[in-house]
Amino acid sequence: MSRHLLLAVATLAFPITASAQFSYEPPGTLMSPNGSAPTSRGYTDDRVFAPEMRFPMESAPAFLNSQIYAPGGYMGPSGGQCDSRNYDYPWFDNYCEARRWSMPLCPSGTGHQGQDIRPATCEDDVHWIVAAEDGTITNIGSYSVYVTTADGTRYDYLHMGSVAVSVGQSVSQGQRLGRASNEFGGTATTIHLHFNIRQNVSPHGSVYVPTYTSLIDSYEELSGPPAYRAQWVRQSFPLASTRFDVTAGEEIAGFIEFTNQGAETWRPGQVFLGTTEPRDGASPLQASDWVSSSRAATVESETAPGEVGVFRFSVRAPDAPGDYPQFFNLVREGEAWFSDQGGPVDDLIQVRVESVESGTSCEDSPWRCEGTSRVRCEGGVLEREPCASTCMDGACVDRVDNDGDGSFVPEDCDDNDPNVQPGRPEICEDGIDQDCRLGDALCAVSPDAGTPDGGADAGADAGRDPGATAGCGCRVAPNNDLPGIPAVVALGLVAWRLRRRRRS
Ligand SMILES: [Zn+2]
Repeated sequence: MSRHLLLAVATLAFPITASAQFSYEPPGTLMSPNGSAPTSRGYTDDRVFAPEMRFPMESAPAFLNSQIYAPGGYMGPSGGQCDSRNYDYPWFDNYCEARRWSMPLCPSGTGHQGQDIRPATCEDDVHWIVAAEDGTITNIGSYSVYVTTADGTRYDYLHMGSVAVSVGQSVSQGQRLGRASNEFGGTATTIHLHFNIRQNVSPHGSVYVPTYTSLIDSYEELSGPPAYRAQWVRQSFPLASTRFDVTAGEEIAGFIEFTNQGAETWRPGQVFLGTTEPRDGASPLQASDWVSSSRAATVESETAPGEVGVFRFSVRAPDAPGDYPQFFNLVREGEAWFSDQGGPVDDLIQVRVESVESGTSCEDSPWRCEGTSRVRCEGGVLEREPCASTCMDGACVDRVDNDGDGSFVPEDCDDNDPNVQPGRPEICEDGIDQDCRLGDALCAVSPDAGTPDGGADAGADAGRDPGATAGCGCRVAPNNDLPGIPAVVALGLVAWRLRRRRRS
């Protein structure tokens, strides 16, 4: 990073990334043996299966990662379980980590059932674990506690110490159940909570559902949103998928808008639209109104959380004809890039200019939309007219929000249904794409319907099977106990894949 550029231009401090800032790898990104690069071989759906739940540890911070591939694990790099790397962000999903339990949603067909969570510090029997929702204690094993809610969702807590509840007792959300410990029915494991969510997913019956996204949501509720997070709203420049011809040397003015989804207010001179891929790279699109070669604009006005901030700047087509893509992200100068906090990621927001030679004449054509501008060719000359609001069918129009849900076409994929807009919880297999991404989601399926609650459930109730690679399977001692795939599961997987193909 050429951070000195910032100093030269804005006389501001260096951008830094605070490691204490919550961050997480995307769902499905699993840690790999011996600290090698993470592999994405887990379940990558980002649906939230338990939107109402509270984070199961009483207080933050907490750290989601692997108990077998991280320091202190039997396939991890050197270092003990109390290694500082285990008590740091980013979080890692381990729902599909290598275990023998039948897990139809995992690519291998087997997996870990739930998520391992380390408490704030590497201290045994200190950190309280609490009820994720109101419910009843339905089972207590030698180190497990189950809470079942009125709607049938079951939360499983494993490796519990100092259990403070009894079977049949009603508990309310946030009530203390016990403490995080290394209990494992005799042989100690690492100090952590293994956390499952089991739900009835019609018509498939009771299955372990992914917990990772529910944990992220509830953790942010517990600890507050990150200081700096944004969501792209729209841009006047054409999207990168649309060819954006600009005559060499010409400057085109425009804007990009983002919603402030963080905790901090954005202020002019502090929050900038910076170049990424690479960060702080001098942009070939720099125009006369840029703050510097790597800062296209600062936010136009003070933008509080929840409000939309506007970044106005021009792009200049380079003198040499050609294709000039440029990625951007927001940066709080002196503190952090938004991509290191809540996002967006660095390779998402883009303006892409095709520089064409001057004197190139176009073929006469009527008005058409290019992003939120409209263009036409008249007498061999390209005319561009930025719309104040947006462009539809070649005309500048006000943005429409028929259903009054605050989302506009085209981001709102059904503007006649207020229950449909980006960010809505997706309901599987109801024929409706509530969250406007990837169509209607598939429900979880159980491949081994002939063996209800087979090995998986028995294993999770480790109280019945102490000493086995039960539930968590998070051994500390060297013991290479990788799963095989029983024939019945393999057959089930085939059935599931066929089913999935038919539906998609
Ligand atoms: Zn576990």
